[in-house]
Amino acid sequence: MKDLDWSNLSFGYLPTDYNVRCCYRNGKWGEIEVCSDEYLKLHMAATCLHYGQEAFEGLKAYRCPDGRVRVFRMDENALRLQSTCRGILMPEVPSELFMEMVTKVVRLNQEYVPTYESGATLYIRPLLIGTSAEVGVHPSDEYMFLIFVTPVGPYFKGGFASNPYVIIRDYDRSAPLGTGIYKVGGNYAASLKANSIAHEKGYACEFYLDAKEKKYIDECGAANFFGIKNNTYVTPKSTSILPSITNKSLMQLAEDFGMKVERRQIPEEELATFDEAGACGTAAVISPISYIDDLDTGKRYDFGPNPGPISTKLYNHLRGIQYGTEPDVHHWTTVVIG
Ligand SMILES: *Cc1c(COP(=O)(O)O)cnc(C)c1O
Repeated sequence: MKDLDWSNLSFGYLPTDYNVRCCYRNGKWGEIEVCSDEYLKLHMAATCLHYGQEAFEGLKAYRCPDGRVRVFRMDENALRLQSTCRGILMPEVPSELFMEMVTKVVRLNQEYVPTYESGATLYIRPLLIGTSAEVGVHPSDEYMFLIFVTPVGPYFKGGFASNPYVIIRDYDRSAPLGTGIYKVGGNYAASLKANSIAHEKGYACEFYLDAKEKKYIDECGAANFFGIKNNTYVTPKSTSILPSITNKSLMQLAEDFGMKVERRQIPEEELATFDEAGACGTAAVISPISYIDDLDTGKRYDFGPNPGPISTKLYNHLRGIQYGTEPDVHHWTTVVIG
């Protein structure tokens, strides 16, 4: 293993040895190429640069206490990328190709999978871009699918902890019938300003209401929202949020724990009724919410300074599955090394 100070890593880019690539030409996917160059040679009129034909995914490889390296639900990331491809007219990357490339890139860079003890992981970033030159607004004929990996530090440096969020009404991340349900870069460009305002004001993240009525909960930055009350896990149903694989997994675990699960519209005022609330996604699994401020109305929805018991139980259980220390009854993990 590389001699790096794993526990001091941030969520930044650290070079590794290899990335894997596969090109789509003449209506079909080619061979997988192993590459050590971090740069792309790209036509300046490529559609990804001008018209946003760009999609990505995010997942992690975990070095486990049993010595193996596991990845979590990569079949789900493949399906979500296919949905994104249909959404912005790119050719679908077949699940087998996606999973073969994930496995390959982790194995090729196994020296960079951080130690279990460090709490750090290997972040896997699949990227699909339109590469042919177009000046008119058309989908590309040619595409490149590539995956790189980079070690990232633990999300919670000082242990599982709660953070404050802020409702922002002045900016929308995505429109009700727009691209919010797809993992495309454009949604992130649209969120940069609100995110920077939230940080400036001392919050961990911005919180979006639905763009049309500004009435219902949508998402927290790049994570899904959930609230807990009366032994029920409640999460928004919306046409403008990204279907989080972490959220999907937490819903299943909540059900396994005998809780009720509701996926429905959540009016902002309902926030006052939750005992616990959290943001969920691959980066943190769960980032518990201490309070949510609505600066326009002056309201504060308070969930207490520390993570609640159910969020903590869900967090520990899902992490246990990812690290192979809890039984993987739903067959969510794949051993890629060991
Ligand atoms: C990636 C992403 C999430 C989290 O999805 P996971 O599959 O759980 O990592 C949530 N919201 C947005 C906008 C995202 O891009």
